[in-house]
Amino acid sequence: MELRLTDEQKMVQQTIRRFVEKELMPLENDVLRNEREGKPGLPPGKLKELQLKAKEAGFWGINTPEEYGGADLGQMMMALVYMEVSKTFVPFAFGGSADNILYYANEEQKQKYLLPTINGDKKSCFAMTEPGAGSDTQNIKMTAVKDGNEWVLNGEKTFITGGNEADFVMVIAITDKERHRATRGREGVTCFIADRDMGWKSEYIHTMGEWGPAGLVFDNVRVPEENILGELHKGYNLGLEWIGFARWIVGARAVGAAERVMQMSIDYAKERETFGKPIAERQAIQWMIADSAVEIEAARWLVLNAAYTLDKGEDNRHLASIAKLYGANMGNRVIDRALQIHGGMGYTRELPLERWYREARLWRIYDGTDEIQKLIISRNLIKGHVKLGQYI
Ligand SMILES: Cc1cc2nc3c(=O)[nH]c(=O)nc-3n(C[C@H](O)[C@H](O)[C@H](O)COP(=O)(O)OP(=O)(O)OC[C@H]3O[C@@H](n4cnc5c(N)ncnc54)[C@H](O)[C@@H]3O)c2cc1C
Repeated sequence: MELRLTDEQKMVQQTIRRFVEKELMPLENDVLRNEREGKPGLPPGKLKELQLKAKEAGFWGINTPEEYGGADLGQMMMALVYMEVSKTFVPFAFGGSADNILYYANEEQKQKYLLPTINGDKKSCFAMTEPGAGSDTQNIKMTAVKDGNEWVLNGEKTFITGGNEADFVMVIAITDKERHRATRGREGVTCFIADRDMGWKSEYIHTMGEWGPAGLVFDNVRVPEENILGELHKGYNLGLEWIGFARWIVGARAVGAAERVMQMSIDYAKERETFGKPIAERQAIQWMIADSAVEIEAARWLVLNAAYTLDKGEDNRHLASIAKLYGANMGNRVIDRALQIHGGMGYTRELPLERWYREARLWRIYDGTDEIQKLIISRNLIKGHVKLGQYI
């Protein structure tokens, strides 16, 4: 067993670190100012410019197969990349990627949706959640009824990331009510690719974060038969695959952000004096720093193990739930301590800590809430699907 990065992994980590420090961190003040004026953090065109700079450094389609022009870095590299990029709150995402489930597209759909998405000419979103069905995904109500060569979609989706900007949505709807009931939601639902100009409407949802997802309304939206993604009646598994993909990455994001705010806290504690001494010399502050360091290291290993397991071609779902649950909560605790160490300044909008504090709260909710991760982890153990210490 080798518990150190390879030379190649170190090189990728260093390259991304330099990119973040040189290209992204200098934009932080602008991002804060823009957001406070109610504008997007990065002006239109700036994201594209940054993506092209990253491309020059070899980072384009970091999880996209090489046959589609991507770098296909693998999961360990992705974990390292996300940990580095998350050290800044600048809303950057690498170009050249598409949702994991869009690769189930047939040849025609690949030309029409997958390739334009990878190239950045089209934007997608994925819609499973409904006002009455979040954690309980099997309780969705949206229906699709066949009419000639088309399916007619009716219903509502909510909290859809990217739903305000997307050109098309991959949306899950019930296509066979009987089968849906008999299989308790596992079958009888289908994933459709629906273009915005087929008639669905989106509405911005304001959140405590700096961006908002969308509510989507489908009122007799007609989708052609050829826009079924994957198999008819088998869309539920696609939904689970989409949700599962990002799960451990939430943990990676939390590690990156926590490292940054902790370093800010250490620097501040050495400078800030009270009662004649820097607060770094007070045990109360030292303990917050120590607790944060321990938790960050623990989360880092959990995330890397989830990524490594997937690279090995093994089922990482149990580890992904553990990495997500622990990482998300660790991130919230560390950011809370960082804010505390900064005192009144931490609470102001002079510093980005309050912004991170608000953003981090989402980590415990989307891609499966804390409670749902606990349910999965305990069920796996109680039913004997996994054993303690199995993944070593
Ligand atoms: C900003 C944002 C972006 C999102 N992006 C997307 C997206 O792109 N696409 C998409 O489809 N969805 C998206 N979601 C939806 C997200 O996945 C759901 O919000 C999440 O799964 C929780 O569902 P819910 O909000 O309906 O909460 P509920 O399921 O109603 O849960 C409410 C509370 O009850 C708890 N709970 C529920 N069931 C149980 C149980 N069996 N045992 C114990 N506790 C339980 C939950 O943990 C939670 O604390 C997004 C959400 C947000 C906030």
